[in-house]
Amino acid sequence: MAEIKYEYTYDVVVLGAGTAGAAAAIAAADLGAKVLVVEQFGSAGGSGSLGLVTPLMSNGIKDRPQCSYIGNEIIERLYQLDASDGNKRGYFDPMMLSIVLEEMLHERGVTMLYHTMVTGVDLEELQGHTGGAAEPARRKKHITGIRVCNISGNGIVHATKRYIDATGDAIVCDFASLPTLHGDEETHKNQPCSLRYMIGGVDVEAFWRYLAEMRNRAGLSSASGAQPATSSDTSQNGVAQTPPRPENFSDAVTSGERKRALKPIFLKAVEAGDLEEEDVLYWQFFTVPGRRDVLAFNCPEFFDIDDITNAEKQSFVQVQGKLRILRHLRFYRKYLPGFEHAYIAQISAMVGIREGRRAVTEYVFTTEDAFAWRKFDDAIAQSNYPVDVHGRSLRNHALSRDENEPRKYYEIPFRSLIVKGVDNLLVAGRNLGAEFVAQSSVRIIPTCRSLGEAAGIAAALSTNDGRIVRAEMEKKGAEFAK
Ligand SMILES: Cc1cc2nc3c(=O)[nH]c(=O)nc-3n(C[C@H](O)[C@H](O)[C@H](O)COP(=O)(O)OP(=O)(O)OC[C@H]3O[C@@H](n4cnc5c(N)ncnc54)[C@H](O)[C@@H]3O)c2cc1C
Repeated sequence: MAEIKYEYTYDVVVLGAGTAGAAAAIAAADLGAKVLVVEQFGSAGGSGSLGLVTPLMSNGIKDRPQCSYIGNEIIERLYQLDASDGNKRGYFDPMMLSIVLEEMLHERGVTMLYHTMVTGVDLEELQGHTGGAAEPARRKKHITGIRVCNISGNGIVHATKRYIDATGDAIVCDFASLPTLHGDEETHKNQPCSLRYMIGGVDVEAFWRYLAEMRNRAGLSSASGAQPATSSDTSQNGVAQTPPRPENFSDAVTSGERKRALKPIFLKAVEAGDLEEEDVLYWQFFTVPGRRDVLAFNCPEFFDIDDITNAEKQSFVQVQGKLRILRHLRFYRKYLPGFEHAYIAQISAMVGIREGRRAVTEYVFTTEDAFAWRKFDDAIAQSNYPVDVHGRSLRNHALSRDENEPRKYYEIPFRSLIVKGVDNLLVAGRNLGAEFVAQSSVRIIPTCRSLGEAAGIAAALSTNDGRIVRAEMEKKGAEFAK
């Protein structure tokens, strides 16, 4: 048995400082709780900072209520730093996000334990807690401590109120030998993962002109995510004009029938042996507010990693991903105007996991709930973000044909954050209790902020009543559609 060199006791212990974990810690501290956050890396924000994920996807609800007072505060702080486009569409700089989160955590007195891995869970069986006559064998458990490891050695952290598993992959649940969900219900395969990166030294203006020209040629109006096309966009007296460059823009090349302006160039490069077929299946970039010569890329994507909760496979992605990024860089320099002096500015320090392991919770949010825009008494988040399952062919579609109907959205019940079978463990973020397709819609950063905020409030108040949690969120300024 390894020697325990340190032990800490807090009201609330949050495992993982990603989007959900950071929000959970801030929310709990706002209610006066003493909070400890355990994080394996040296930064807050997880996929949304170290993972280089940007921008915020929109929940698709009219006026974009963030369902999170913390989400609103983050957006405002980033805007003040010129690191966000300031509206709720959400172009932002992931590195500035990590600083903003740390500033907010620090101001609230949250203790951060960085470079510390969760390595195990100590549990006790609760006497007298059974599932009743119908389920006499189902006993409730109680976490007495979380085992951690860092440069100081092995330690244990204790929470007097609640633990929150915000590891993204239900790592605490797994260490506690609780049942978890993994991948598609039929195939058990996880969503494909990616290794995101940023390219610097780009003449974004020149690239925009080229992209606009390619879009004109393809009969497409403006780059996706850009401001609406103006009347001068496409032609004047039959002559194609370059539209004014929007402040922020993005574009993509994907599999499928959809017309993509840059696809012919990618196919030409494949033919010449400068790219591989897989590079054409999913490629996407975004501008980054405050970084004038940088583009952020949502690729390369790994389509055949079926189990991303396997460390060897994660390591494979991290190494192979870099080689693919190098191939992309060579392609950019050779084929794309504006990239002549481009260089790799950043590669994600973590594999971009869309979906790994999810908790089994008191209520598992279903795909049917999302499609039916189901509402719940204990709702703590709302969204109408589409189904977004990646793969060699994309399953990306709105929840209904009626997608423009502003009042249509589903709600997520607080019970999807209460881990089943344990009396003091909540889950927050992309590893909530949800079915595979439902999770593909829930997993966006704004929704993960709501889930984290709700878990943090519940932990600080020691309550499992979602209506109390929702009331507290609204009291603090979280907006919900009515
Ligand atoms: C490639 C990709 C592109 C995406 N694009 C978008 C997008 O454009 N817009 C959008 O809104 N959303 C996007 N998403 C979804 C979104 O980024 C994530 O779902 C969301 O950030 C998840 O937040 P989280 O807090 O649940 O998990 P994470 O951000 O993954 O946080 C988990 C944290 O737990 C820590 N951790 C894990 N294990 C341990 C351990 N054993 N010990 C200690 N710490 C641990 C991790 O280091 C991490 O900090 C994308 C996701 C991916 C992967």
